[in-house]
This record gives sequence, structure tokens and C-alpha cells, in this order.
Amino acid sequence: MTRTTMSPSLSELEALRQNLLFLRLRRMAELYEAEAKRAVKIKSSYTAYLNRLVEEEVLAKTERSVNTRVNKARFPGLKTIESFDFSFQPSVSEVLIKELATLAFVQAAENIVLLGPPGVGKTHLAIGLGFKACAARKKVLFASALSLMDELLAALVSRSLGTRLEILSRLDLLIIDELGYLPMDTQRANLFFQHLCQRYEKGSIILTSNKTFNQWGEIFGDDVIASAILDRLLHHCHIIPIQGESYRIKDKKTKAIDKGQKQEHNGISKKT
Ligand code: ADP
Ligand code: MG
Repeated sequence: MTRTTMSPSLSELEALRQNLLFLRLRRMAELYEAEAKRAVKIKSSYTAYLNRLVEEEVLAKTERSVNTRVNKARFPGLKTIESFDFSFQPSVSEVLIKELATLAFVQAAENIVLLGPPGVGKTHLAIGLGFKACAARKKVLFASALSLMDELLAALVSRSLGTRLEILSRLDLLIIDELGYLPMDTQRANLFFQHLCQRYEKGSIILTSNKTFNQWGEIFGDDVIASAILDRLLHHCHIIPIQGESYRIKDKKTKAIDKGQKQEHNGISKKT
């Protein structure tokens, strides 16, 4: 058989391309022709050729779906567990964070609470874990405590609270950032409690706060509701207290020290 008789006609190639696009196999449509030439060149089997095309399509689809999940999660920036400098924050157990990054906690619908002063990496770790969950094709949403409560309140006013709570309860992981920066009124506190009850043992929460648990009464303006919230939240929960310096001022401090040393050095050289 000559090579000419084996070569597909132009209309065949076009039909194949159209059908691949109809089946939404975009990556295969992009690659099939070049890959076919390559397969002839390296004498690979029909199965190997098809396998390679399907693998490429799976890769592209996975990447697209992860990107969609990351966009939907509405992270305020992209932070990863890999870019977290554990040596700067020795109060955070690298082993524990790596264990949490396996997402067993999402599978078990457990919660994580990150506590500590500003700048110690609470939001960074929360996003890092959220990003891992997106990569594992979990449904994730990141929201500041304030915007989440405002959203729930707006839904209550527009009589769509049920729908909004239902949408939230379908998430695998909800990240609530910065609880406690501003106190909440009773209505918002009640809405938070309502949502927590709905998620309880069904979906995970990662929550970050600069307040210790005994200050939560102040956040929610009511000790009873605060303890009911803590009761649900902490039942299946990994609590990660972070102490230490703010990473934000790390560079400024280093620069200040450098400057100080320089001045000192200049002072010494002047004296001599
Ligand atoms: P917090 O939420 O505790 O106030 P952030 O997570 O927002 O702190 O951290 C402040 C900034 O410092 C962010 O840009 C974050 O990426 C960075 N950062 C904090 N801790 C670390 C760390 N240990 N390694 C790398 N970057 C860090
Ligand atoms: Mg933060």
C-alpha cells in the first residue's frame, strides 16, 4: 500500500475536525493532524496515537476545570503552601499544614481555624489550602467575614436567603477571612449561626481571626450566640494558633537593621 492511499483526504480531515469540535474535544481537534504525522514518523501504533490524543484532552480539560474553580473561589490573590516560608513562622507546624494539604479534612467535612495577630500568614495559608482544594476539583469560596455577612443580610432583605444558604451549603470548602476585625450586629451574628448549622458536619470551613476564642462574645455582641457558634465550629476542627512577627514588616525591619548597621559602620569609620 502506498503512502498516498493511506493519507486521509482533505474532506476527511475537515470532517474529523468538525466532529471533534462538535464533541467539544478542542485539544484533540488542535492536535490530531500534527500527532498523526508524528505517529507515522515514529511508527507508533493506532492505540498509542489515540491514547496520546485522549491524554492531551484530559489534561486540557482538567486544567480548564481547575482554572474555573480558582476563578469561582474569588481568592484575593494567589498564595500557595509551597511559597509559605515555614522557617520564618516556626509556630506553624509544617507537618500539620502538609497533612491538611492532602485535603483529608475536606473529605471529612472538618474545619480549620487559624488564629493570630496581623501579618503572620493566616490568609496566606487559608488561600494555599483553598487552592489545593480547587486543584482537586473541589468547590471553594473565599469571602471576608464582613462581606459574607453583608451578602447574607442582603439575601434576607430580598427574601432570597434560603437560596443563598443553599448555594453556600453546596460548597466543599468555605473560607471566611478576618472574623473579628469589626464587631457584628445581632442580625448578622444570627445569620452566621444559621449558615454554620446548615454546614455542620456537611462541609468544611477555614476561618481566620485575630481574636482569641474568649473574645468572640465581643465579635458577635452576645456570649450565648458566640458559644453556640464555637460549639458547632470547633466540634471537628484543627485549631492553628500562630504567634510571631508580621511577615509584612519583615523586609522593613531587615532594611532598618541594615540601615542602622550602615550608620553605625559610618560612625565607626568617621571616628578612626
Ligand atoms: P494575616 O492574614 O495573618 O494578616 P497574611 O497571610 O495576609 O497575614 O500575610 C501577609 C503577607 O505576608 C502576605 O503577602 C503573605 O503572603 C506574606 N506572608 C506571611 N507569612 C508568610 C510566610 N511565612 N512565608 C511567606 N509569605 C508570608
Ligand atoms: Mg489576613
